[in-house]
Amino acid sequence: MSVDQALAKILDTVVPVATVETVPLLQSLGRVIAIDKVAAINVPPCDNSAMDGYAIRLDDLEPLNELLIAQRIPAGQMGKPLKVGTAARIFTGAAIPPGADSVVMQEDTETRGEVVRVDRSEVKLGQHIRPMGQDIAKGSVVVGCGKRIQPQEIGLLASIGVTEVEVFTRLKVAVLSTGDELVEPGQSLASGQIYNSNRYTLTAFLIALGCEVIDGGIVEDDFQTTCDQLQSLSAQADVIISSGGVSVGEEDHVKAAVESLGQLGLWKLNIKPGKPLAFGAVGSTPFFGLPGNPSSVFVTFCLLARPYLLRKQGQSDVAPVMTTATAQFDWHQRGSRQEYLRAFVSVDEGVASVCLYDNQSSGVLASTSWANALMVLPPNTTITRGARVDVLLLSGLVGG
Ligand code: AMP
Ligand code: MG
Repeated sequence: MSVDQALAKILDTVVPVATVETVPLLQSLGRVIAIDKVAAINVPPCDNSAMDGYAIRLDDLEPLNELLIAQRIPAGQMGKPLKVGTAARIFTGAAIPPGADSVVMQEDTETRGEVVRVDRSEVKLGQHIRPMGQDIAKGSVVVGCGKRIQPQEIGLLASIGVTEVEVFTRLKVAVLSTGDELVEPGQSLASGQIYNSNRYTLTAFLIALGCEVIDGGIVEDDFQTTCDQLQSLSAQADVIISSGGVSVGEEDHVKAAVESLGQLGLWKLNIKPGKPLAFGAVGSTPFFGLPGNPSSVFVTFCLLARPYLLRKQGQSDVAPVMTTATAQFDWHQRGSRQEYLRAFVSVDEGVASVCLYDNQSSGVLASTSWANALMVLPPNTTITRGARVDVLLLSGLVGG
């Protein structure tokens, strides 16, 4: 099964969170908004000046090009109606006084005492006025249900006076690591052991997505222990993600355990790194069985688990943005699997180019830290230096 087909099937099964909570504006950062926010006001609330200068009525400049400065309007104050033949000294952000139809910036004027001189031929009707509602019209949807709140939405919501936001409740995601060789950082390593990095990679991804993480610990490579732990996690979590133990070796028990407790949907994926990968359910709790190799965990989480979780959190748009860059290498891909190579994109003279990490082995986690992108290499493809290739920037795959 291709990665795209698998993703479509996985997304098809998503049942988004249905519960909603109200949080203070700043605490909604990174959460998905559950109810459209509609503007109760216009932004800006009235026509205002975009410049420091003079508010005038254009026709008053005939025939003299001179006006009497009759009032002064700083930001935050309302002026009086503009009398015929007068100008208002006005500052950026101040309300346009009734009767004025244009603003002349101070640099384009000459003042003599109480009189300001403006060359009419230099002025365009309506210039330097920011009309009421030009940013946001009263009654419009400012942030719609399904959007993840980022700093720009926080500012936008503040601009319409919002103090609280309705967001979907946090997803509870359990992380389980399988493998007799695993030891937690902080403990000493005996020979043959390695530190459990997958638990940390996955937990960090989940924290960045605003999930509540349930630590499922390390389970030994044993069928019954794996079943017991999966069953216990399924009672607490909205989603379970495991790493390791999904191959077909004698020490791999995840597949059989999930099959005995629920069902396993997907099995063989045309993805590298990342084969094998499992998707199914423990009881009724959705389950991702990611591979054990650390780079495979990184790639399969980004490409398959992440969009699933985003959709389950209530987010509407979950597709990462693909872009192109010029290959700085030759590559011959003979396999039938789609490859996601750890890559670095840089821009020289306006053109994006991409190079690859030397060692693309799925056990090499350093490649993911060196990279700022994944280069997508379709099955059976030859790339020659200078060709345009597809890349996914990690900035769109890591973080909230
Ligand atoms: P497995 O899929 O269980 O056969 O694991 C494949 C490889 O990934 C083996 O070299 C494991 O030692 C390694 N591995 C599995 N789980 C982890 C983990 N949590 N952290 C780091 N490496 C792991
Ligand atoms: Mg293992």
